Amino acid sequence: MDRPPSVDALARSMADTGLPHPVLVDAARAAIAAGEPGRARAHADAFRRRLLQRVVNGTGVLLHTNLGRAPLAVDQPAAYRNVELDLDTGRRGSRSASAGALVARACGAEAGLVVGNGAAAVLLVLAALARGREVVVSRGELVEIGGGFRIPDVMAESGARLREVGTTNRTRLADYRQAVGDPTGDAALVLKVHRSNYRIEGFTEDVAVAALAALGVPVVADLGSGLIDAACPWLADGPPSWLAGEPAARQTLAAGAAVVTFSGDKLLGGPQAGVICGRADLVSACARHPLARALRPGALVLNALQEVALSYLDRTAEALPFWRMATAPAEGLRSRAEAIAAACGPGADVVATASLTGGGTLPGVEIASFGVAVPGDHLGALRAADPPVIARVVDGRTVVDLRTVEPDDDGVVAAALAAVSVA
Ligand SMILES: *Cc1c(COP(=O)(O)O)cnc(C)c1O
Repeated sequence: MDRPPSVDALARSMADTGLPHPVLVDAARAAIAAGEPGRARAHADAFRRRLLQRVVNGTGVLLHTNLGRAPLAVDQPAAYRNVELDLDTGRRGSRSASAGALVARACGAEAGLVVGNGAAAVLLVLAALARGREVVVSRGELVEIGGGFRIPDVMAESGARLREVGTTNRTRLADYRQAVGDPTGDAALVLKVHRSNYRIEGFTEDVAVAALAALGVPVVADLGSGLIDAACPWLADGPPSWLAGEPAARQTLAAGAAVVTFSGDKLLGGPQAGVICGRADLVSACARHPLARALRPGALVLNALQEVALSYLDRTAEALPFWRMATAPAEGLRSRAEAIAAACGPGADVVATASLTGGGTLPGVEIASFGVAVPGDHLGALRAADPPVIARVVDGRTVVDLRTVEPDDDGVVAAALAAVSVA
C-alpha cells in the first residue's frame, strides 16, 4: 500500500462533500501532517472556497475587477461553431467576421478585431504597427492601469520605442508636432491613452484627437473603458450625467483616430476581451501579425461578444446587466433597501450610498444609490455565507449597496445580514 490507510479512510469519510477523491486525499494528508486530522474537513472547505463560484456583489462597484468586472448572462449550448468557416464558400473564414465586425459597425469603424483583453489589444497594435519605430505619447498619459499594465512596459514588450513628449500636467500640439516631424526620429504612431483611473487637475493642457489627427501619422486611442457611443442610443433616457466627458469609440473615430482599443468587460458590459477597431488596413495588419494568433479569443468569448454587439446595434443594450444596474433609478434601490432592512430587524438601517463604475473607469465619479447597513465589521462572516456576499465597511458599519445586487438576490442579502446582525 503506497499510502497510510488512515489518509484514505479519512478522505473517504468526507465523500459527502462531493469533492473529487484526490482533492479529499490532499485535504486529509495536509490535516494529518499538521497533526490535526480533525481539521481535514476545514481543509476541504478551504479548497472549495478557492473555486470560482457565484458571489453577490454588495460593494456598489459595478465593474469590480476582483469579481470579474461586467456580469453577463450567456447561454451557450454544446455545439460546433463556424468560428473560422465561411458558410458561403465552404472555405476558411475570418475570426473577425462575427464579433469584431459587429463591434466595428456599432462604433462606426471600418473593421474590428477581437483579442483576449484590453492589454493584449494595445500590445498587438503597437507590435503590428510600430515595431522598431517610435510611438509618441504624452508624459501625462504614461499610465499604470493596475495588474501590471504600464504603458512604458507594454511599449517595450511590443518592440516599439516610446517617445515621450510634454510634461506630466501639460502637453501641447507643438510638442507632438516636433516629435512627429523630427528628421532623426521615426514616428509610426501617436498614442493617446485614456487616463482611466486617475485625474490631473489644475494647471493642465491636453491635445484632442482631432488636432493630433492632422499631424500625418495614424493616431491610436487606447480608450480602455469601451463606451461605444457618447450619445448612448441604447438608453431610453440618453446618457446618464455621470458619463459626461468619458471618451467614446464612435466619437473618437469620427474625430480622426485611425484605431481605437478598449476592453470588452468595462463600459461595454460584455465578456473579458480586447477590441481593436478602426481603419481596415491597420486592423488587418494587426490580424496578420503573429502575436494575433497568440492573443486570439475562443468561440465562447466570440459568441458572447457577438450577442453583446448585436444588442448595441438593436439598441437593446440597456438590458445588459451592466447597463441595467448602472441606470437603475435610486428610488427603486431605496425601496429594496427598506424591504431588506425591515426583514433584518432592528439594527439594520437604510443608508444612502455612492456606487462606482470601478474597473479603472471614471475615477471620482459616483452614482447615487442606496444600501443596507448593520453595525460592526462583518465582511468575513458575509464572505462565508452561501452564496458569499461581498460588502464594504463604511464608518464602522457593514454596508451592502443594492445597485450591484440582482433583485433576485435580495433574499440572500437579507438572510446574510440578519444572521450577522443577530450574532
Ligand atoms: C483597462 C485598460 C486597459 C487594460 O484593459 P484590460 O481589459 O484590463 O486588459 C488598457 N488601457 C486602458 C486605458 C484601460 O483603461
